[in-house]
Amino acid sequence: MDVPALLGVPPDEADALLEHFERDTFQGTTYRRLSDARRGVERGTVIFEDTIVRGFPSIPRVLVLETGVPTFFSGPLAVEEKFNGYNVRIVDVGDPVAFTRGGIACPFSTPKARALLDLEPFFADHPEKMLCAEFVGPENPYTPHEYPDIDTLDVRVFDVRDRQTGRPLPVQERRDLLAEYDFPQPDRFATLEPESAPSAIREIVDDLDDRGREGVVMQSADGRDLLKYTTGTQHADDLAFAFSLPFDYGRDFSFSRLIREGFQAVEWDESAADLEERAHRLGEALLYPMVKTIREVEARELVGERHTIRGSAETVEATLDHIRAQGIRLEIEADRTVDDQRVVEFVKVTDKTRDSIEYYLEGGTIDE
Ligand code: ATP
Ligand code: MG
Repeated sequence: MDVPALLGVPPDEADALLEHFERDTFQGTTYRRLSDARRGVERGTVIFEDTIVRGFPSIPRVLVLETGVPTFFSGPLAVEEKFNGYNVRIVDVGDPVAFTRGGIACPFSTPKARALLDLEPFFADHPEKMLCAEFVGPENPYTPHEYPDIDTLDVRVFDVRDRQTGRPLPVQERRDLLAEYDFPQPDRFATLEPESAPSAIREIVDDLDDRGREGVVMQSADGRDLLKYTTGTQHADDLAFAFSLPFDYGRDFSFSRLIREGFQAVEWDESAADLEERAHRLGEALLYPMVKTIREVEARELVGERHTIRGSAETVEATLDHIRAQGIRLEIEADRTVDDQRVVEFVKVTDKTRDSIEYYLEGGTIDE
């Protein structure tokens, strides 16, 4: 396998790039993964035995629909629902393996992918493809988010790409292919012309906002140009999460959400009442979770990210080991067996938030 050629880097730059790949193992197999985008190669790109699996590209975001959409697209664009979960790429490397965004072969997502999707017929016909999917629902170790129709964990396949080149299928072809194999996929709301798209997208996003959903991904018919836009509800949810762990969730994370809200308010809030409502929502998202956490630390309760996972004893054990191996400290809050499945509730302990809050509660000072 000519790795540099496959990655599209000149031979004399190959070593410098390959140096950045970290070694990891999955069920006895050693593989290499790139944890940050470099030289045009996407974060999460994996070299697994005799194949390359390209990372999923970062999708640019537009802040002002009215000007941004016609600037970005020169032809018709499909508008699909963006789901709030975590990104997984499923490829067949002998058996199907699910890689998370950073290129980790995931001991939780792999058995789940095999159980949720009938992968065998698909990979028998399309061994060279990768399924790009969002894992969604409240029971997972990364991004728990409630959806009314999802009790534990489900999947939405939003893209199909060639695993070695990363090239996507055109939108319609992809949708037909996924339907053929009965893979759940996000709704497509519309296909629009760039000039008239902004007002139509605004209506779609308004409705998603009312339903507490995340937003939309727009894409050119050939599937190659992607653009995202999110709801105010999502910005508030993100901020509420960040401010529930104020010293762990970065300032960049919070700042970017505030800016999104600012531009959306200018584009959308025609009345003073709309703006006031948004201001309230934003303030509540910042303050209530922070106050709750400070009180919890004051009461010596455990603070951190709460997750629940459900699966076979083996999957659950492997998942917990995997998280601990990443240097994250876990506290198990509940552990039971329901219908042969082990269900574990745990907290990823966030020491920084607890330590900082304790320091200030005890009268610590800050230089600013
Ligand atoms: P990055 O900024 O690197 O893209 P991120 O995780 O912060 O990373 P998000 O803001 O969540 O990115 O938006 C991009 C992600 O949205 C994709 O990587 C994918 O996991 C997810 N996603 C959910 N639904 C869709 C969809 N319908 N089409 C494309 N991506 C989707
Ligand atoms: Mg996301």
